[in-house]
Amino acid sequence: MTDALPPLREVIRRHALSARKSLGQNFLLDLNLTGRIARAAGPLREVTVVEIGPGPGGLTRALLAEGAKRVIAVERDARAIAALSELAAHFPGRLTVVAGDALEFDAPSALAGAPARIVANLPYNIATALLVSWLTVEPWPPWYDRLVLMFQREVAERIVAAPGSKAYGRLSVLAGWRTEAKILFDIAPSAFVPPPKVTSSLLQLLPRAAPLPCDRAALERVTAAAFGQRRKMLRASLKSLGLDPLALIEKAGLDATARAEDIAVEGFVALARQIA
Ligand code: SAM
Repeated sequence: MTDALPPLREVIRRHALSARKSLGQNFLLDLNLTGRIARAAGPLREVTVVEIGPGPGGLTRALLAEGAKRVIAVERDARAIAALSELAAHFPGRLTVVAGDALEFDAPSALAGAPARIVANLPYNIATALLVSWLTVEPWPPWYDRLVLMFQREVAERIVAAPGSKAYGRLSVLAGWRTEAKILFDIAPSAFVPPPKVTSSLLQLLPRAAPLPCDRAALERVTAAAFGQRRKMLRASLKSLGLDPLALIEKAGLDATARAEDIAVEGFVALARQIA
């Protein structure tokens, strides 16, 4: 079905889609690789895929070829919209292109209750902001059943990090609280046009059906305080909360001499419950 489509390099040339750094554009033109990513996100027959930043549409066509019921693709670059319209004509009724900023996209309204999954080679300049917005949606469980996302490897490692590692931080706690996150595979810079400076990783996040009950804003306050001074013991770093840190730590059942990076998600949840 994708055989009849023009090569991506031709699409890029015809639509003058030279990559712009300001839009975080690093395109994937290797259809074996986009196919591998789409399969890693599967099975797709029953789901609507929300794709952020389709660009020239390499991953988009792979998702459609792998059988996605529907793809809603949100793209900010007007030059890409025309290219994507050609793709939409090739897959009648299955590709909806939304021209606009993914940070402002109201997915639940567009989906109207359809089962959905987010799959994207994210623009790295807004990747973390988008992830945080998806991890903090209310109500929970969220409107998507899975996130399959490309990040810079260093960011992916922070997201999946376990306590005790240098990469463990606020993002790991938020992701670990609400999802089970794992790196599926790495992708070399040379796979992208133009190649970014760093290796990328494809990450899968599966929403937990029942995360430990906790107020999200309180959780973010305690992790901001604890990791804001990550080398200090909790009894010192939590002072910035403006409450008696020792009482707080004792009620949460934690060790006042521990440091932020030693505290598991459950510990931060226990702290958050004390201040909520
Ligand atoms: N999916 C394509 C691929 O894999 O070849 C392109 C990926 S490229 C890393 C990121 C894409 O996100 C670009 O097409 C860029 O124009 C788009 N983008 C950047 N900022 C955006 C935003 N705020 N909202 C929607 N799309 C955005």
